[in-house]
Amino acid sequence: DTARKQEVLEKARESGVKFVRLQFTDIFGVLKNVAITVEQLGKALDGEMMFDGSSIHGFTRIEESDMYLQPDPASFVVFPWRPREGAVARLICDIYNPDGTPFQGDPRYALKKVLAEAKEMGYTMNVGPECEFFLFHIDKEGRPTTETHDQAGYFDMTPIDMGENARRFMVLTLEEMGFEIEASHHEVAPGQHEIDFKYSDALDVADKIMTFKFVVRTIAQRHGLHASFMPKPIFGINGSGMHMNQSLFTLAGENAFYDPSTPDQLSETAKYYIGGLVKHARSFAALTNPNVNSYKRLVPGYEAPCYVAWSLANRSSLIRIPAKRGLSTRVELRNPDPSCNPYLAIAAALKAGLDGIKNKIAPPEVTERNIYHMSADDRDLAGIASLPASLQEAILELQANPVISSVLGDHILKNLVAGKQAEWDDFRTAVHDWEVKKYLTLY
Ligand code: ADP
Ligand code: GLU
Ligand code: MG
Ligand code: MG
Repeated sequence: DTARKQEVLEKARESGVKFVRLQFTDIFGVLKNVAITVEQLGKALDGEMMFDGSSIHGFTRIEESDMYLQPDPASFVVFPWRPREGAVARLICDIYNPDGTPFQGDPRYALKKVLAEAKEMGYTMNVGPECEFFLFHIDKEGRPTTETHDQAGYFDMTPIDMGENARRFMVLTLEEMGFEIEASHHEVAPGQHEIDFKYSDALDVADKIMTFKFVVRTIAQRHGLHASFMPKPIFGINGSGMHMNQSLFTLAGENAFYDPSTPDQLSETAKYYIGGLVKHARSFAALTNPNVNSYKRLVPGYEAPCYVAWSLANRSSLIRIPAKRGLSTRVELRNPDPSCNPYLAIAAALKAGLDGIKNKIAPPEVTERNIYHMSADDRDLAGIASLPASLQEAILELQANPVISSVLGDHILKNLVAGKQAEWDDFRTAVHDWEVKKYLTLY
């Protein structure tokens, strides 16, 4: 790969790059990086940059802490908001053990493994995410608040709002970094926004989601705002989702979900894929909705799903099939939220869908009723299960499902479950404002 290495070195020279950030994502979905000077770039591209894995939460034990970063040359991009002189670029990295084998705790590697499985079955996966987020004010001490002056709603225009300005810069910056932005708009809740970029292959999109969150937060900060991807920052209004539109393409580039000869123009492959998603949804929730707060979003009445069902138009169900057909035929999975680790969430959804195809898992009847308005008995009759109601329930479901936990491998599974269980225990034992308000004077 000397040609690709030379290409990166050349690009770095042309753009006057002085610092290169080597980035990777930990198992909890947090972006990490180390900055090197451009003089070290050659060595870094040869995979010679080492870091202390034991200092990354959930990575390794102190006795086996040497890890190597192998940059993906295709991910080279200059940060447009940094000075032109002494510019800053980044490279996304895979993680290797000292013996040259891939590190089992690398979420990017976990996704690559499932993508290889799909390829063996004759498919590539496309993902188009819809990232929602809030823009909040910062107080006098520079701390983020949950306040916004914006009173706008879905698709509103508020030309004087700082949020609009920040969003415009986010779009321009992302475009400069190679994103193809399809739409950006104000979302339903005050202070809530969405920016959509064009679908592409799953690994590229997982990388892009990490970059997206980092860019949005950076640009917000430069506008004196705080961008948050927390799933449900405010009680009583919509939370932020990250719908995952997904489809399988054949190696010939055709959409494997499209079949013009069926009444709904969905192929048998699409149906089995949906069957797999439905079957495993309760178990991959721990990955698509990985935080205590994620489950505050998955409640009735806020356009977020809480029941395991699929439908053609209805936004109350977990899986919606948008009306577009042909190359745009896709399955929209609506429970993921933007706090998820995109590598693991995408890997788990793909694994579920592939399991559906392999085992010909027929999906249940399509549900067109508003499920929020169905009673528990109606749902039982229709065979509609609920998504996990808490992180605790989700962790147990993940552990009990060998298909979904195999996506993670033993290393990530063990460390993720331990970390998430600790998070749950912290929450469970904390005394919340709600409890004090409810009980302090009552008893
Ligand atoms: P919604 O109907 O929920 O408002 P949007 O139009 O906001 O959906 O977003 C649609 C997303 O789906 C975009 O990211 C788009 O690129 C993506 N998409 C389009 N075709 C496909 C496909 N074949 N596979 C995966 N994603 C797709
Ligand atoms: N904000 C909603 C959610 O939590 C989604 C709104 C929409 O359909 O775009 O998933
Ligand atoms: Mg939206
Ligand atoms: Mg959507």
